Amino acid sequence: MSKEYDLFVIGGGSGGVRAARIAATHGAKVGVAEEHRYGGTCVIRGCVPKKLFVYASKFSEEFEEARGFGWSVGEHGFDWQALVSNKDREINRLEGIYRGNLEKAGVDMFDDRAEFEDTNTVRLVRSGQLIKAKRILIAVGATPNMGADLPGMEHVISSNEAFYLDAFPNKVIVAGGGYIAVEFAGIFNGLGAETTLLYRGEEILRGFDDDIRSHLHAEMEKKGIRVICGDILSKIEKTGQALVGHTQQGRTIDADQIMFAIGRNPNTKGLGLDKAGVETDASGSIVVDGYSRTNVEGIYAVGDVSNRYNLTPVAIREGHAFADTVFGGKDIRVDYDMVPTAVFSQPEIGTVGLTEAQARAAHPNLDIYRSSFRPMKHTLSGSDEKMFMKLLVDADTDRVVGCHILGPDSGELAQVLGIALKMGATKADFDATMAVHPTASEELVTMRTATEQVRS
Ligand SMILES: Cc1cc2nc3c(=O)[nH]c(=O)nc-3n(C[C@H](O)[C@H](O)[C@H](O)COP(=O)(O)OP(=O)(O)OC[C@H]3O[C@@H](n4cnc5c(N)ncnc54)[C@H](O)[C@@H]3O)c2cc1C
Repeated sequence: MSKEYDLFVIGGGSGGVRAARIAATHGAKVGVAEEHRYGGTCVIRGCVPKKLFVYASKFSEEFEEARGFGWSVGEHGFDWQALVSNKDREINRLEGIYRGNLEKAGVDMFDDRAEFEDTNTVRLVRSGQLIKAKRILIAVGATPNMGADLPGMEHVISSNEAFYLDAFPNKVIVAGGGYIAVEFAGIFNGLGAETTLLYRGEEILRGFDDDIRSHLHAEMEKKGIRVICGDILSKIEKTGQALVGHTQQGRTIDADQIMFAIGRNPNTKGLGLDKAGVETDASGSIVVDGYSRTNVEGIYAVGDVSNRYNLTPVAIREGHAFADTVFGGKDIRVDYDMVPTAVFSQPEIGTVGLTEAQARAAHPNLDIYRSSFRPMKHTLSGSDEKMFMKLLVDADTDRVVGCHILGPDSGELAQVLGIALKMGATKADFDATMAVHPTASEELVTMRTATEQVRS
């Protein structure tokens, strides 16, 4: 017997859960299917466990730095199993909250995989149940791209497995140069593994501001990470427990673990999109308009599967906007202008607005303010880590069109700067704002002279 819903959501992650809850609060009869765990990538094997691991990995450096402040830190050791099980406890708690919120909103939850049968029917794979819905939301997220099928690929892990390793590795190769790759390189290094970051491109973090990319590269090397650009693995060999990564440029790198973080693919394989006639692009991402509508009436997609900005807050916003528009009588399109974001590399990155390359292309008259300095903490800590800040100002309007920071708590700064830049703050507004002293961020309101002036 088939059930009928106003909305059926495929995927109980960031976007799907938000959409389901909001639609239900607008009075819709909603069901959601989740094949793994509620909370999705972000909660179960993404942002949250990653940030917990970043916190864990910073202690090694902090123990060292404590000496400069008079502390003698006694014998210390690191227990990987304790970290993993404490992380798992927190993830279980968060998953419980997600389930509880869906339940409170009156959403029917199915712990099952859903696949399309036709444009308004899904089949639950385990139970075989058929479910009819007036509208279907695809919120299935993305999965790690493992690249070409190299010899020895069976020994390679992705970020999914990195959260559950039985033992902490002594030597790690992280292949990739995106934010997940640099974050994990920092985690492994901080927790004590000899870490190599291997990236095929010219410089890590493609798409970020070039100064930020080169400064992070240098800071990661200072911390002991071997960063190799312009090379990729061609073969992986296993002897006993030991792995050897062979590269195209003829390098051989020893490792106990090799993790690929070379991108993510939309999770559409086997979803039955062909049965529903839903259009995808060359990458397999679902094509949507500004209201998250696919080419098929009644079928929508939000989050990573639609490959707009692949970030949790964006998936949540898209899910919310969809539910408010379709079930709440509102007309909401997500605004993607000035999306602030962080990379939890070590040091951390906070960024909002245009990169310098984008700003140069968009604004013929541009003032560039750069500042690199030693944060106050490192006057005693013994660390030679530098903080870097950059403001990009459209000289015609005085508007700050981009801000990029590398250094402690930059992610926190990006959130607040996001408000200012979204409101259209000018350089004069920054200058008129009183400094907070002594902080690193006071530099943002005290950079008086442009380092470079670009004029058409
Ligand atoms: C290691 C890592 C770190 C990250 N760090 C950050 C960060 O710091 N900040 C940030 O903003 N973003 C981060 N992200 C990205 C963020 O996790 C995603 O952008 C976000 O989770 C996307 O939400 P979503 O709803 O599109 O998909 P997801 O959260 O991935 O949810 C999709 C859900 O659908 C389920 N599913 C898939 N197919 C089916 C099916 N057929 N039937 C039933 N269920 C199905 C999946 O099991 C999954 O639970 C990170 C990602 C990773 C991998």
